[in-house]
Amino acid sequence: MTAQPAQTISVLGAGVLGLWQALMLARAGHRVSLFEQTPEPFVHSASLYAGVMLAPEREAETAEPLIRELGHEGVADWRALYPDLISAGSLVVAAVRDRAELEHFARRTQGHQALDAKAIESIEPDLAGRFPAALYFPDEAHMPAPAALSFLLAKVRRAGVEVMFGYQFEPQHAGLIVDCRGLAARDMLPDLRGVRGERLIISTPEIALRRPVQLLHPRHPLYVVPWGAGRYMIGATVIETEDDGPVTVRSALELMGAAYALHPAFGEAQILDMGAGVRPAFPDNIPRAIVRANERRIFVNGAYRHGFLLAPVLARAVAGYLEDGTVREPILTLD
Ligand SMILES: Cc1cc2nc3c(=O)[nH]c(=O)nc-3n(C[C@H](O)[C@H](O)[C@H](O)COP(=O)(O)OP(=O)(O)OC[C@H]3O[C@@H](n4cnc5c(N)ncnc54)[C@H](O)[C@@H]3O)c2cc1C
Repeated sequence: MTAQPAQTISVLGAGVLGLWQALMLARAGHRVSLFEQTPEPFVHSASLYAGVMLAPEREAETAEPLIRELGHEGVADWRALYPDLISAGSLVVAAVRDRAELEHFARRTQGHQALDAKAIESIEPDLAGRFPAALYFPDEAHMPAPAALSFLLAKVRRAGVEVMFGYQFEPQHAGLIVDCRGLAARDMLPDLRGVRGERLIISTPEIALRRPVQLLHPRHPLYVVPWGAGRYMIGATVIETEDDGPVTVRSALELMGAAYALHPAFGEAQILDMGAGVRPAFPDNIPRAIVRANERRIFVNGAYRHGFLLAPVLARAVAGYLEDGTVREPILTLD
């Protein structure tokens, strides 16, 4: 596969990775079609279950340093594209008995400010008196997944991409394939695995948070993300299984317990939805594009917990490879 100025490209899968690929490749001048197997947008996409937090600093607590570095690029790309991105930073809090956890989190991350109770109250008045200390990450951002995905899809269409839902793809008509099928690509990427993430959507007029708040918890990174109009996403479990069945009682209790510990007013909230998505992941949990030149196929997959954060970065890596052959390792590799 040689670098060419304009190619005919079939992108498979309209999750967040496929949408960003289609958009950036069309903007680079390629003739792009986007094929999604489901008749309706996003109904079988892990992307629909995301928070969505763009949290390169907080993710660095458990992720490779590369995720932080690339994540800042991803945040900048989203800021440039999406006017409704909410750039209000994020907070990390811990119960008084878990104060040591907060200190540990602070040591493992950068780009935060330590807040005392008064400072917490000044930026999140509804958390007044609830926590003695917090970490504030001012450069992080968030957005509701359904609105962001619909926005991206509209952008893709406006960029001239032919978009086909409910389409049985026929490779002989494809040109170059950019394969963003998520976990379904395991038929060709055997080391891909699924990591279940459960989340709730709740609604309450009783409390108004402005930014995502993460409550440190021994088992899961539990957080509450304000989606506007009194709605909150509460997420998310991280479970090594590919089961995409309904939320379990244990997980629902943990998620609701986190929200209630953050503020008892969440006890009166209505539960609008509960659901589980399965994140596609490689063994090292680092998303990447894999070029299989002899098959004229580029896989973009393994987004794990970073699909929204890194989708633009992966799209730029693929566009750069097609432009002049640049191999941006480790997020683009030749197979
Ligand atoms: C609860 C939860 C919370 C999360 N929170 C965040 C967050 O805050 N920030 C963040 O960055 N990430 C977050 N993530 C991770 C993020 O959602 C994933 O990394 C991302 O959605 C993966 O996107 P994808 O496009 O690879 O896969 P998907 O969204 O699953 O898309 C794959 C698409 O391919 C389609 N497809 C399958 N087979 C075919 C075929 N043969 N032909 C055509 N189409 C096909 C599928 O129907 C699907 O629409 C979260 C995930 C979960 C589950």
